[in-house]
Amino acid sequence: MSNLTNDSFLEGEDGNPSSAASGLMGLFAGGILISVLLAFIYSLFCFYNPFVHFNIFAPIVFGGLIMFSVSNIAAMLKVRSVNAMRAGGFVSGLAGMYAAWVWYIYAITKFKVLMLNPYGLARATQALAVTGVWTFYGFRPTGIGLYVIWIAEAVCVVLISSQAPPLKFQFCEGCNEWIDEKGKKVRLAWIDVNQLKADLARNDYQFLNTAQAAPADAGSYLEIEVKQCQQCLNEAFVSIESNKTTTSDDGSTSADAAIVCISKRVPGSVATSILKRAE
Ligand SMILES: [Zn+2]
Repeated sequence: MSNLTNDSFLEGEDGNPSSAASGLMGLFAGGILISVLLAFIYSLFCFYNPFVHFNIFAPIVFGGLIMFSVSNIAAMLKVRSVNAMRAGGFVSGLAGMYAAWVWYIYAITKFKVLMLNPYGLARATQALAVTGVWTFYGFRPTGIGLYVIWIAEAVCVVLISSQAPPLKFQFCEGCNEWIDEKGKKVRLAWIDVNQLKADLARNDYQFLNTAQAAPADAGSYLEIEVKQCQQCLNEAFVSIESNKTTTSDDGSTSADAAIVCISKRVPGSVATSILKRAE
């Protein structure tokens, strides 16, 4: 598993996974629980909704709500690994689809039969496939045709639910908290971007530690966004954008912007030093 705070760095720094096992278990348990509850609403909607048209969008909304829930649970339980979030979304999506079938059979039997075991559930769906469950413009799919639609529905839900995006990015390992502070922007003197990228890849921070602040009217400068844990000051991240203005012989100017890095973890002392030059 990879830690987003590291793998979001454009140069591809890797390693240092550290989501607590309890957080991962909570992510899966919470995702599954919410999916089972959402599945209840989803199934009742599909069962009672008289406009079959809307049922085409229902799996997208259902998968989207599971995805949204998993993202929020991950942020709450301090899960930083994107792969863990995807796995949590995938398992929650599968659980949600299974529960949707259980609830659907429950609704169709006038809330009498809660068919939990997979064998009984398969028998019940086979029986439904024989007669079909809905009619769309006089077309009533049964058998293979209906199975294809059901599989497409399940694939849609699980594909969407497993794309859960991270809501928070920078984490202080020492304080075990997300760094929620808004980043502070500092302009430093311009340096060749490839040189700076090479330095950062080697964890060489000499330039960041010593570069002068850029004057307000400078045409070329580096804009550094610093996010630093305000509790311990030890953990910090920088995002750097290069802005270069070149003046050609005929006096016309052209501006050139490039991203050097996004959310690169740097020692807290480097962040403190950069912020000092903004004062
Ligand atoms: Zn901290």
